[in-house]
Amino acid sequence: MHLVMIGGSDAGISAALRARELDPGADVTVVVADDYPNFSICGIPYYVSGEVTHWRNLAHRTIGDLESAGMRLRLDTTARRIDVTGRKLLITSAGGGEELLGYDKLVVGTGAVPVRPPIRGLAGPGALGPGDGVHLLHSMGDTFAVMRTLEQATPASAIIVGAGYIGLEMADALTVRGLRVTQIEQLPEVLPTVDPELGALVHAELAGHGVELLIGTTVQAVTRAQAGRPGRLQVEATAGGSAVTRTADMVLVVVGVRPDTALAAEAGAMLGAKGAIAVDRQMRTHLPDIYAAGDCVVTHHRLLGDTYLPLGTTAHKQGRVAGENAAGGNREFAGSLGTQVVKIFDQAAARTGLRDHEAAPVGFDPVTVASEADDHKAYYPGSHRITMRVTGDRGTGRLLGLQLFGHRHAEIAKRIDIAATAIYHNMTVDAVSDLDLSYTPPLGSPWEAVQMGAQAWVRATQRR
Ligand SMILES: Cc1cc2nc3c(=O)[nH]c(=O)nc-3n(C[C@H](O)[C@H](O)[C@H](O)COP(=O)(O)OP(=O)(O)OC[C@H]3O[C@@H](n4cnc5c(N)ncnc54)[C@H](O)[C@@H]3O)c2cc1C
Repeated sequence: MHLVMIGGSDAGISAALRARELDPGADVTVVVADDYPNFSICGIPYYVSGEVTHWRNLAHRTIGDLESAGMRLRLDTTARRIDVTGRKLLITSAGGGEELLGYDKLVVGTGAVPVRPPIRGLAGPGALGPGDGVHLLHSMGDTFAVMRTLEQATPASAIIVGAGYIGLEMADALTVRGLRVTQIEQLPEVLPTVDPELGALVHAELAGHGVELLIGTTVQAVTRAQAGRPGRLQVEATAGGSAVTRTADMVLVVVGVRPDTALAAEAGAMLGAKGAIAVDRQMRTHLPDIYAAGDCVVTHHRLLGDTYLPLGTTAHKQGRVAGENAAGGNREFAGSLGTQVVKIFDQAAARTGLRDHEAAPVGFDPVTVASEADDHKAYYPGSHRITMRVTGDRGTGRLLGLQLFGHRHAEIAKRIDIAATAIYHNMTVDAVSDLDLSYTPPLGSPWEAVQMGAQAWVRATQRR
């Protein structure tokens, strides 16, 4: 049995590892367009900042580790076409040679590509690119281009277009590197994946570290700056009908990703939410013997149904399911809750489940209650306040979502996971108080912060 995985990132490698784990006799080939299999692209901001001192340290596993797990790696090799009926994959190797690779089962893990927004100067003839200090960021190749700009052009300032989680991590990273950063976001607040009340706290953290924030501001053009003006590049934007102009030595455009589906779509795969490849819970596409996983596919959300939610955690899980099933197993992807966390300088913001505007359209009657609690007993030194927003269904009391903001050492990531676990198991907000959670004064409280948030929700909703 020959299993072929296309893509050497979270989804493709997870699929290959799982298939080999279940069937050590399986013949597994992973086709990877670049030379960097199994790199943690989630760690790119920390390499750019200098906190991770070498790009090689970003590898989840080395090429040697992967080969010892029993997979054959075809690096610098691009999958061009899938012959579905003949079960063959046309590939082009680095030298340009073409080859047909036969498969019994195929896993497509082509991932996502960064969105290039319709900004003048980013596309078309004469478009600015990495050589001019204008960058998109997704792959290791993009990272090396950013590092070349940082090391060779030694920019003093940067403009980041987009204030989603990657934009924020890069604002943190470039500030740590000593650049003056301006961040431009067209929505009314940064980190639009959380409620604006928490976005405002993230905003304050960025501003407190010297990041200039322009929110409600839409970038129209990136051009070379006129001679005599500071900075090499000029960004023209509009805010509430007024023109805004900033100059900087480099520009980073990070406004999200779109699924990379060309290969699967050309082979006849059906597409779903946001144009991602449609898959069932076993990660099967509609094409025989072809699975798909990761940022290129539609994601099953436990509360929303089919959606598009590109995240590394999800890509790992979906890849593992696809690999297991390709090897003859029968496993289902349990579904995502969109659980995520981001560090911004000394603070962290996290969310899981739904916010009000996401819960209402799928039939819930959501109520969100804000509260605060200490991460551990305040009499023990070093405690931090945590801001919480608990969302529950008014009718059933079911926990629907949690958003947290607090110090990076306040265990924000693991606290959001308490709620992710509770939502996974369809718990009510009230039942969260019944969970037997750990306590010692330097690390927690008799009532864990998330339980205090749950109790605040119950108190507030009982009064209504
Ligand atoms: C800067 C950054 C920070 C992030 N931080 C986080 C985080 O903190 N937490 C989190 O959960 N997620 C994070 N993510 C998202 C996460 O990295 C992605 O969700 C994850 O990498 C998706 O994995 P994937 O395997 O589906 O696709 P990708 O990582 O996009 O990889 C696709 C792979 O397919 C290969 N490929 C594509 N087309 C072909 C072809 N035709 N032939 C051969 N190979 C091909 C590519 O070379 C690549 O190896 C971050 C992403 C970035 C860019």
